[in-house]
Amino acid sequence: MRELLIILLLIISSPDMNAEPASGKHPVAIAIHGGAGTIIKDNMSAEKEAAIRAKLEQALMAGHKVLINGGDALDAVTIAITTLEDSPLFNAGKGAVYTYDGSNEMDASIMDGGNLNAGAVAGVSRIKNPILAARAVMDQSPHVLLSGSGAEAFSASVGLKLVEPAYFQTEFRRQQWENSHKPATAAIQSATDKWFSTVGAVALDQGGDLAAGTSTGGMLNKRWGRVGDSPIIGAGTYADSRTCAISATGHGEFFIRAAVAHDICSRARYLKIPLTEAAEAVIHKDLVGMGASGGVITLDPSGNIGLVFNTPGMYRASIDTRGKATIKIYRP
Ligand code: ASP
Repeated sequence: MRELLIILLLIISSPDMNAEPASGKHPVAIAIHGGAGTIIKDNMSAEKEAAIRAKLEQALMAGHKVLINGGDALDAVTIAITTLEDSPLFNAGKGAVYTYDGSNEMDASIMDGGNLNAGAVAGVSRIKNPILAARAVMDQSPHVLLSGSGAEAFSASVGLKLVEPAYFQTEFRRQQWENSHKPATAAIQSATDKWFSTVGAVALDQGGDLAAGTSTGGMLNKRWGRVGDSPIIGAGTYADSRTCAISATGHGEFFIRAAVAHDICSRARYLKIPLTEAAEAVIHKDLVGMGASGGVITLDPSGNIGLVFNTPGMYRASIDTRGKATIKIYRP
């Protein structure tokens, strides 16, 4: 019913929102995620679910609007992720999980499938939108991955907005962190620490180019400058317009070791199998075999969308090449 409503809205709300671009142009598609984990209906209030759905819809529409107006896949990915970073509901930007020491350290990356350019930041605590910093690293520096205070100095030098570390803190995440330090509330921790809530987006533009991006606060209670898979090109993010755009979410240590995003893309390219089939093999067989949980969103050059995860749920939303919008949280 809700899907129907969104499709109707797409059709009637704006003449711009035509799924079919002008003739000769490539049909567009976009998918986003807000993390995978122990997301079960019984643990979710109706208000929270409604708020999450609304924010996913807003991010999805913002990205799709860029695409149907002829914008780049990179810009669609950037605006979708920025929208989710600004929301306290997700573990990225404002609302990031707390480190063991009670701070917030964020990672983000973005990749342009058209030329294999990429940018990323890791362990940043003052950049309001880490995905914009990743984009700036790609567009305005000779490097791919900047970390910590250096990444912040670079971001300031290119005019990005820096904020006080307190900006990222939320009561929900503070309580999650506090509870996780108390053995008596171990049950609360186990119910919440698997809610990864990282965000990501993949998009296909009218020029036929693919792009992917991912942004996260990492994992609750991480220590010692731990960096996850999200800013690692080939692990949490990968895009190559010949084959794939992929953004991952899950237990980062495993995603790095399995080079998840690049492996999925390479399997599809070398084995000449559908991208979703490659994703299913990696997420359901390899990662499960390693004892790892998580998921990916994938998009191929024809606009086929994959939303693949081995957890009870994954916040996910997409608009396919026909303009059909879908927003889902739990397992089908
Ligand atoms: N992959 C992220 C990390 O390990 C966490 C997540 O996806 O929620 O940092």
